[in-house]
Amino acid sequence: MATSIDRSAVQAAENVWLMAQRQLDEVATLIGLSDAIHLYLRQPKRVLEVSVPVRMDEGRFSMFTGFRVQHNMSRGPAKGGIRFHPDVTLDEVKALAMWMTWKCALVNIPFGGAKGGVICDPKAMSMQELEHLTRRFTSEISIIIGPEKDIPAPDVYTTPQIMAWIMDTYSMQKGYSIPGVVTGKPIAIGGSLGRDKATARGCLYVTNEAMKVRNIPIEGARVAIQGFGNAGMHAAELMAEDGYTICAVSDSRGGVANAKGLDVRGLVAHKQETGSVVGFGGGEKISNKDVLEYDCEVLVPAALEKVITAENAPRIRAKIIAEAANGPTLPEADAILHDRGIMVLPDILANAGGVTVSYFEWVQDLQENFWEEDEINARLKHKMTRAFRETYEQATRHNVHMRTGAYAVAVNRVAEATKLRGLYP
Ligand code: GLU
Repeated sequence: MATSIDRSAVQAAENVWLMAQRQLDEVATLIGLSDAIHLYLRQPKRVLEVSVPVRMDEGRFSMFTGFRVQHNMSRGPAKGGIRFHPDVTLDEVKALAMWMTWKCALVNIPFGGAKGGVICDPKAMSMQELEHLTRRFTSEISIIIGPEKDIPAPDVYTTPQIMAWIMDTYSMQKGYSIPGVVTGKPIAIGGSLGRDKATARGCLYVTNEAMKVRNIPIEGARVAIQGFGNAGMHAAELMAEDGYTICAVSDSRGGVANAKGLDVRGLVAHKQETGSVVGFGGGEKISNKDVLEYDCEVLVPAALEKVITAENAPRIRAKIIAEAANGPTLPEADAILHDRGIMVLPDILANAGGVTVSYFEWVQDLQENFWEEDEINARLKHKMTRAFRETYEQATRHNVHMRTGAYAVAVNRVAEATKLRGLYP
């Protein structure tokens, strides 16, 4: 075909954008995607890079760089979070935007994919500095966001408070309140019940389905979780409530493990008090990396990209890996895990609960009519379970791993919309 997609595995291992393109290339052949649509989907629709000047607390002025990437809008407005992290790059944001396109298509919500990021260290910034940064970044990207165009949400190190500032800044510019411009907001200003735990809850629902398929009893099944932010912490809580035993957890500073199970409530309290799981009394010390190889039935990578590699994949002991993080597994590792019979629930499936309830939030905002939490969780369960079944069906039919199965469902949906709309002009 006409693309120059023959890139080395080494390059892909170092660059998430090449990795995302390579995942698409793999499925393109499998589903017989036309060259034209394949080429079209390999690139983002729109990339915006902005400079964000911020007055810091001691009067000094700092310049930050931020991005908003819209990968595809064939199925509806673009949707995706904004991350604040020192290691953000444009290539990373492009990959994350592409993954949002597939994720929204997989759970069949009427959105395309986008992502934003600002290169900054939010842990080293005061609340006031974060507010200034958020407001100026929002203002800079306001030329392409909006409730009918592109709707941001939380991601790594961005919170409901930050979403509130985005909503306020955008609304102040327009002259009236526009809650539908962003999701993951506090309930008091148009947020949705259940959104805070939605990523973890969706992850739990699909893990439960995988446990059924693999015939592993949930009661007492051991879980290791890397990352203890919004996704990882709530996953620990919800999985413990459902009967799983949480044996190992970690965050960026380190981890704690106990083969007999950790007291999740105590752990959450410790994290909220000290900012880390490190130093929690109920277990022994373990590194953030070693958590991945901990003896367990279910491994939940819930932190950052590229942590499961060809190097550590042979040592992973879990039977099921539920990717609460985006992009934790490199393509080489995918193949190794598949050969070893380990079922990977790919990010676009396992963490799609977040954007699914974001969609519910957006619908509620537009209708100015808010739903009960039970109804939200039931709708979420329905969407997640259906996406799991469709993924499993494609993976089984083509004899491929679950990521490729999920891509087959998602890419086909986006391709169909693209084809129907045709090429303008
Ligand atoms: N940042 C989340 C994700 O990666 C949520 C995106 C959203 O709710 O729009 O899926």
